[in-house]
Amino acid sequence: MAKSDATQPGTTAAGPAVLLAHHLKQLKLPTVLREYEKVARECARDGVDHVRFLLRLVELELLDRERRVTERRIREAKFPAVKSLDTFDFTAIPSLNKMLVLELARCAYVERRENVIAVGNSGTGKTHVALALGLAACQRGFPTLFITAHTLSSQLMEARDEKRLLRLQAQLQKVKLLIVDELGYVPLSQVGAELLFEVFSQRYERGSVIVTSNLPFEEWPSVFRSERLTGALLDRLTHHVHILEMNGDSYRLRQSASHRRRTAGAEQNQATTAPAEIADDLEADAETS
Ligand code: ADP
Ligand code: MG
Repeated sequence: MAKSDATQPGTTAAGPAVLLAHHLKQLKLPTVLREYEKVARECARDGVDHVRFLLRLVELELLDRERRVTERRIREAKFPAVKSLDTFDFTAIPSLNKMLVLELARCAYVERRENVIAVGNSGTGKTHVALALGLAACQRGFPTLFITAHTLSSQLMEARDEKRLLRLQAQLQKVKLLIVDELGYVPLSQVGAELLFEVFSQRYERGSVIVTSNLPFEEWPSVFRSERLTGALLDRLTHHVHILEMNGDSYRLRQSASHRRRTAGAEQNQATTAPAEIADDLEADAETS
């Protein structure tokens, strides 16, 4: 190599640079590769020694790596949308304990393998809060999965039919926080209910669950199709649980109502919203949830 460098002027500097790039790629240090020339120039300019030069590079790599890992965790959580508590208006839902939600966002409950159940009527921000808590968990390093109760029970049944139920159950066990959204919106089949029960049962004291539901606990037997199964489930789920009471006006409805008031105001229309219209809105709201 030295020989060919000598016969081809100009490749002497490129030789080690090419090798270095190759080695850094193999060592999976993309940030060092991207930044070393720039940082070297800065260090030479400022008279910074070699140890500090290396330290700067390694710190950049570490920061970037942390960001990449968090981004991957967020992708793997399969959130339908990324929502945070920064965009959540607590004044819109007075029944919700704000201090509790902020405390939950620190994720100590995930470490303690405790559960969260958010119950309330449609459009009150249950999914929003669940997504925000899921995002917080990802940012704090906990593998998370977001799924609706309906999709989860379908996936479990499919896995059972294809003889890969154990594998799916093992995958579910790996996540530290399982978010099961919309329990109760769609009634489950008997097999689906039993398989879902098994997931909750396997997580008991092993991993956290967040459940959102529009149904009060008394009505859960209609989802699980059995008083006995529901009793056993609630027993496990509520042993270490934080309940988020989220009954109130639908946020969507309020927004569309205030939007309508603004437009009506602009048109100098004095008519107020008729109760029938509100009922229509509520129905549309329930359908889109
Ligand atoms: P739910 O799951 O209780 O039916 P969602 O979380 O889906 O309700 O809320 C419906 C919509 O309204 C979402 O777009 C959500 O982001 C928004 N939303 C609900 N409550 C609030 C709130 N208090 N502050 C900000 N946005 C909210
Ligand atoms: Mg929802």
